[in-house]
Amino acid sequence: MSLIGVLGGGQLGRMLALAGVPLGLRFRFFDPSPDAPAAALGQHVCAPYDDIASLTRFTDGLDVATYEFECVPTPTAAFVNGRGRLFPSPLALGVTQDRLVEKQFIRRLGLHTAAFAAVDDGDHLASVLVSVGLPAVMKRRRHGYDGRGQMVVRTAAEAEHAWVALGRQPVVVEGFVPFDRELSLVIVRGRSGETRAYPLVENHHRDGVLHWSLAPAPAIPAALQAEAELAAGCILNALDYTGVLTVEFFEHRGRLLVNEIAPRVHNSGHWTIEGAETSQFENHLRAILGLPLGSTAAIGCSILHNIIGALPDTATILAQPHTYLHVYGKAPRPGRKLGHVTTRVAEARDIGSRLLHMQRLFKTGSVRHDAARVRRAEEERAHTAAPADIGGAP
Ligand code: AMP
Repeated sequence: MSLIGVLGGGQLGRMLALAGVPLGLRFRFFDPSPDAPAAALGQHVCAPYDDIASLTRFTDGLDVATYEFECVPTPTAAFVNGRGRLFPSPLALGVTQDRLVEKQFIRRLGLHTAAFAAVDDGDHLASVLVSVGLPAVMKRRRHGYDGRGQMVVRTAAEAEHAWVALGRQPVVVEGFVPFDRELSLVIVRGRSGETRAYPLVENHHRDGVLHWSLAPAPAIPAALQAEAELAAGCILNALDYTGVLTVEFFEHRGRLLVNEIAPRVHNSGHWTIEGAETSQFENHLRAILGLPLGSTAAIGCSILHNIIGALPDTATILAQPHTYLHVYGKAPRPGRKLGHVTTRVAEARDIGSRLLHMQRLFKTGSVRHDAARVRRAEEERAHTAAPADIGGAP
């Protein structure tokens, strides 16, 4: 029975364990929080990430280690890697923890991104805004996720305000992309270098937080899926990556711009638990253990709905056909991801009505499944909300 060590004990770790236990795997989590959602599913080493004695105890007897969030301090990852095998390698953390390093890495591979430039001190802000253009998105280089630590700005005055509001810390200033939609690709690479990609997923964010996704994304030409897989393949190879990686894209006038890379299983891949032949969690475990990868084919179409801030009535959700509830065991808090619901339909044509129905249940309004309408709403939000922080709570 292999013992898997996981740095981080959040919901992603919990779902890794839920996928791995049927394969006969055991889990040990390292997480400084006594309330870590994954703790119920394995051993829990509860200590700060720089506690060497606890890290030593964590690594003792592991077959392989992995991480479930990208803010693991790189010295911690290097220590664990030195005492065994850590997949993905710490290199992927180093690249993705800093938005500037990440964007430069993506560009070096010849892939497209929004226009961007770094600002380290406020004096250079005005000239950077001229080169990048307005509107723009100012993002803290480090520790930003779920839209936290970033602001949309339309004028130089708003940018000055944002520079102060973001703590006068190094930021990346990106051109605002009036995207047609947001897509993500979850892909897995095995130890031998073999890769398998899931179908592209269409994602809808609110306040920078993923609210719902459609999988597979509707109306994806084969060439666009191939383009996404090619881009992700370049990233995987450059990082000599093992495990699941996610690439978030903006689709803009038929082109894909890379927004972000997540070196881990991803929220937009949760539908794979019931909606794909092999879940992203199982495929990550297969990859890091050197086992054959599983099929990434979708089974019908899935709607993924995040549960944010407050839990819905369990019975109401479970009364829905082909609907699967996942509750992460976290204390409710505004803006916090507490769980998700996946609804599966057999045919793409049934998605619109099921989506409306689920959104009524979640009281998220009646946003129709209509890419143009969603795009207009996003643009309007970005313009009316600026210069507000577009982030939510974790
Ligand atoms: P991120 O933390 O970079 O994934 O950003 C969170 C969300 O903010 C994204 O999913 C987009 O909805 C929005 N966003 C981020 N960067 C940009 C950009 N350059 N242009 C337009 N929207 C953006």
